[in-house]
Amino acid sequence: MDAYHIAAETQVAPTICPHCEGAAIVGYGRREPWIRDLPMHGKRVGLCVQTRRFRCKTCEKTFYQDLPSVDARRFMTERLVAWIGPAAIRRPFAHVAQEVGVSERTVRDIFHDHVTALEAHRQVETPQ
Ligand SMILES: [Zn+2]
Repeated sequence: MDAYHIAAETQVAPTICPHCEGAAIVGYGRREPWIRDLPMHGKRVGLCVQTRRFRCKTCEKTFYQDLPSVDARRFMTERLVAWIGPAAIRRPFAHVAQEVGVSERTVRDIFHDHVTALEAHRQVETPQ
């Protein structure tokens, strides 16, 4: 299947260590993970995002910079996650997985999160 591959990077650099909040951080390499995004024109979309890694001189831990609007656990954009949930209610998981280019299991996980969120929302709105 055809796909769009788009190179991207974020200009937002961290200024403090997320572990100890120290400000003495130095560059420590980079990685370029593929981040799935919403399909465009019937094609899958993958963003190759330059992600910088840093090391804290105070606590000596390393960390990657935050990618805005990205679900880091799933390597997907947040808008793709938001799109998959409702799509998986209307269509078979396998179809959604095929269109986006992720595993059926990932679609199922997102579906469950989405339904759980809907249920929680419904309970809040129920009059006593
Ligand atoms: Zn630190």
